Amino acid sequence: MTDDALLPLTEDWDRALVVVAHPDDVEFGAAAAVARWTRQGKTVVYCMVTSGEAGIDGLSPEECAPVREAEERESAAIVGVETVEFLGFPDGVIEFGVPLRAAIAEQIRRHRPDIVITGNFRDTWGGRSPNQADHIAVGRAALHASQDAGNRWIFREQLTDGLEPWGGVREVWAAGSPQSTHAVDTTDTFDAGVASLLAHRAYIEGLGWEHFDPAEFLEGMSRPTGRRLGVTHAAAFEVFSMSFGE
Ligand SMILES: [Zn+2]
Repeated sequence: MTDDALLPLTEDWDRALVVVAHPDDVEFGAAAAVARWTRQGKTVVYCMVTSGEAGIDGLSPEECAPVREAEERESAAIVGVETVEFLGFPDGVIEFGVPLRAAIAEQIRRHRPDIVITGNFRDTWGGRSPNQADHIAVGRAALHASQDAGNRWIFREQLTDGLEPWGGVREVWAAGSPQSTHAVDTTDTFDAGVASLLAHRAYIEGLGWEHFDPAEFLEGMSRPTGRRLGVTHAAAFEVFSMSFGE
């Protein structure tokens, strides 16, 4: 083990809710981990804050949204995720704030996860390139909504038709954070992660990255992370505890 060794993530949980800004955010790094967990019999639900409708230069948002929603549903199915929610916030201009926290808290109350998984919401990816504004807003909101969801006096208008507060989120995990402390072995499900990214055909084509190879791209992250965990491939996460005072 080296100084930058990563700790294994806990796997003693049953339900996770993945909350990210865009279709494709999970597939650029964390989908192989999701495949591992669904193969273990865990339930994972995806919640997309936008439909990624500003993601393809040559397609108007109106034409783009249904294409990207369909690609995300296909990606999700490949890694064993049956439920994909779309919250309909505007792609590219999501604001961190109370409406976003409320929408995510409602999803947490509906799906009652043990673990909430989001994407990196630090200012950068560890280098000099800035993170994208939607990622920062959504990650922060997912973290705080995980606290909000348990308080019956916050967003109390949601508590109708049997919907109850949910204070059961134990940890929030931010995939690909430059401050990652933990990781999970994705060696056996690496290929499912690649297939899941490949399902974003229109999006990848729209990026116009010449010679983009999804497998090579994902390996560029999973192999160095794997070395830090002592396995071949791994996905890294920053872990936040929802226990008070920890
Ligand atoms: Zn994104």
